[in-house]
Amino acid sequence: MKSAAASRAVALAAALALVLASAFPFLAGAQSEFTRGDRMPYDAFDKLSKTDLDVPGGVIHVAFAPGEIALPKEKVLDWVKASARAVATYYGRFPVSDLKLLIVPVNGTRVRGGTTWGYRGAAIRVMLGRDAGEDALRRDWVMVHEMVHLALPDLAERHAWLSEGLAVYVEPIARAQAGDLTVAEIWQAMMRDMPQGLPEAGDRGLDNTGTWGRKYWGGAMFCLLADIEIRKATGNRLGLQDAMRGVISAGGNHEHDWPIARVLATADKAVGADVLERLYREMGGKPVTPDLAGLWRDLGLRPRGEALEFDDAAPLAAIRKAITARPN
Ligand SMILES: [Zn+2]
Repeated sequence: MKSAAASRAVALAAALALVLASAFPFLAGAQSEFTRGDRMPYDAFDKLSKTDLDVPGGVIHVAFAPGEIALPKEKVLDWVKASARAVATYYGRFPVSDLKLLIVPVNGTRVRGGTTWGYRGAAIRVMLGRDAGEDALRRDWVMVHEMVHLALPDLAERHAWLSEGLAVYVEPIARAQAGDLTVAEIWQAMMRDMPQGLPEAGDRGLDNTGTWGRKYWGGAMFCLLADIEIRKATGNRLGLQDAMRGVISAGGNHEHDWPIARVLATADKAVGADVLERLYREMGGKPVTPDLAGLWRDLGLRPRGEALEFDDAAPLAAIRKAITARPN
């Protein structure tokens, strides 16, 4: 049994630890040279020993920053491989031929975030909670999200909604196509979260409104609308997936800076339809509020309590199925 004084001391210590942890989030974690600033620590990475993983169309050089992690490294490498496989399933290949992947152990039980760079070769840094278990890695979306960023040229900051939107939209679809998520899970998440991407009062279009909701879910909404419109225009033969594969085939990946117009034109050309450029003309500079409830209904998505029912007689049911079908 604890005395009142001891409890107070414990509470104080806990409060102090919280203050310290928020001021220096990685104090107890890896060396700051691997976490400091918002640039990839390329030089520090180059000094670490690496494990090379072959993935379709490329090699991932994985390095661990100093620090303990609970899981065996093989389990972490399996997670990297599964994530790369999902991304390669969606894009037909891994988006870059060489990737430097830095895993930094930090406090916690899950994946704590990641960042992707391309200015000195494609690179990703992921903060991995040192006490993360296999289940946390199986449920993780961060690794796939960051790898999806590799598949798009570096854009000007005002177009971040397209890179974040693609990462948010493609990540669950790629994992579903690879068999790592159920189709119901991804549509339920989209129905739940996509309203965060709708414009609010004072919105000036995707290019001119830098809010979190518009950047991530507004961008994802753009991608969903584009996917559906490309499929309508091509008799459901091609989708956003084929358009974005066209960008990679044309040499566009995160190691290159492209203007957004070139990305959209290249993607449209790959599917022979003026969809992305047209949607951008509509949504880039002014607020557009699609009827999401009507869209879910047309796709044949019917929430039933906690579950989701699919209506295969709905007008866009075939398109809904094609979006998550494993590609050839
Ligand atoms: Zn992102």
